[in-house]
Amino acid sequence: MRVLSVASESVPLIKTGGLADVVGALPAALAGEGIEMRVMIPAYGGILEQLGEVEEVWADWNLYGGHTRLMKGSVGEMTVLALDAPHLYHRDGGPYAGAQGDYWDNPERFAALSWVAAAVARDGMGDGWKPDILHAHDWQAGLAPAYLRYYGDGGVKSVITIHNIAFQGVTSGDRLDALRLPWHAWSPDHAEYHGNLSTLKVGLALADAITTVSPTYAEELMRPEFGMGLEGLMSARANDLHGILNGVDAGTWAPGSDPAITRYTARNLKGKATNRAALCAEFGLENGAGPLAIVVSRLTWQKGIDLLVGALPGFIAAGGSLALLGSGEPGLEAAMHDAAARFPGKVGVKIGYDEGLSHRMFGGGDAVIVPSRFEPCGLTQLYGLKYGTIPVVAATGGLNDTVIGATPASLAAKAATGVSFHPVDEIALSGALRQLVSLHADEPEWTGLIKRAMKADVSWAGPAGAYASLYRSLLA
Ligand code: ADP
Repeated sequence: MRVLSVASESVPLIKTGGLADVVGALPAALAGEGIEMRVMIPAYGGILEQLGEVEEVWADWNLYGGHTRLMKGSVGEMTVLALDAPHLYHRDGGPYAGAQGDYWDNPERFAALSWVAAAVARDGMGDGWKPDILHAHDWQAGLAPAYLRYYGDGGVKSVITIHNIAFQGVTSGDRLDALRLPWHAWSPDHAEYHGNLSTLKVGLALADAITTVSPTYAEELMRPEFGMGLEGLMSARANDLHGILNGVDAGTWAPGSDPAITRYTARNLKGKATNRAALCAEFGLENGAGPLAIVVSRLTWQKGIDLLVGALPGFIAAGGSLALLGSGEPGLEAAMHDAAARFPGKVGVKIGYDEGLSHRMFGGGDAVIVPSRFEPCGLTQLYGLKYGTIPVVAATGGLNDTVIGATPASLAAKAATGVSFHPVDEIALSGALRQLVSLHADEPEWTGLIKRAMKADVSWAGPAGAYASLYRSLLA
């Protein structure tokens, strides 16, 4: 079976968040299921150079005002289709925004990606490759299933995955023509969304199947608190909506083979203490007796970082310490800097994005705090499990599906793998941090937690099987 996966980012080429991790991990995970997946992304500046030798498999002299070519290349084992359109994708700044904010032509930039994806899925590529399934990710690829539906699908089925429904690709309805949508797309059952146009909505309305990245988030999407205005559509499509968890790429995230840290295993945890000492030194923290918590996150409202700021003094007073790596909203960055100044030796903060440092943090931390208000799947709690860095999580979305919170019953049953709290507020988080401190002080209980966490199955095997059976059911 052949699948064309279409997204705006993929590791190892370009990443701003968990989407890239998932898109980059799927091809290898699905290869074991006999599925050949190609990944299509925009050729932002510097992407083609990472692909080695490339071959043109599709071209158009004028797509949104410039010569556009689809270039096939590879990185590692992954076959990549990079959409080379410098007029659309070569910008000073990130994939979506520059110094002035979001690029004004983002709708057209990603419509182009979706348009070409649908075209090569329908008609095949220059090298004779034609997929059975087009798998679109998030609003950036949301128009691809719509184009297949409106202009012919060539026998191709479509799947769209919601990695975060907060991002909906909403733009002015005036752009209907420019985005190459037919007039009948302007309907609340298709692309129209409260007088605007949403590229996510039309994809969700018209794809053959919808997935999201955890079973709990799939349920939550049908409720107003989480559906962000699309809960009605989600409910209407409940039979086609599947929650499939993300996995962790074991080649990148494994404490027994990670070159960024002193290695350790569940049987021999000695290296973790070495990593902890090094991490404390790196963040200017005392290597104290209480738990060293880490946070690796975008600093946004979604991630509940403000709740952490509020709960921090109590945690420090109880003997805990914190190392945080992240960037995002200026107010939250400033609040974290303030906390570091207020609690020297107890709170260390690094603002920025640093993959290597994140590995050292999982290698040396005792716990990872993820207090998200909503979390489609979440990856850092999964890394925490693998590294025996006990997750302290809000019981929402994928956090709820991947961490078994410590309770008297789950501890007695030797099932707990972390600490979980609800509702998602400062009081409940403070309680969870108190629980963390007391679990950490109980040596046998703590070691048991670490060993169970490290044994939890967070691999891609289960999720890959679930995607494979979904694809097969669509083709049956
Ligand atoms: P989201 O995609 O909503 O940001 P996820 O938990 O799904 O959240 O994925 C975030 C990914 O980005 C993880 O791989 C995480 O380790 C990584 N990450 C987030 N912030 C940073 C940072 N400042 N430095 C390094 N990696 C980061």
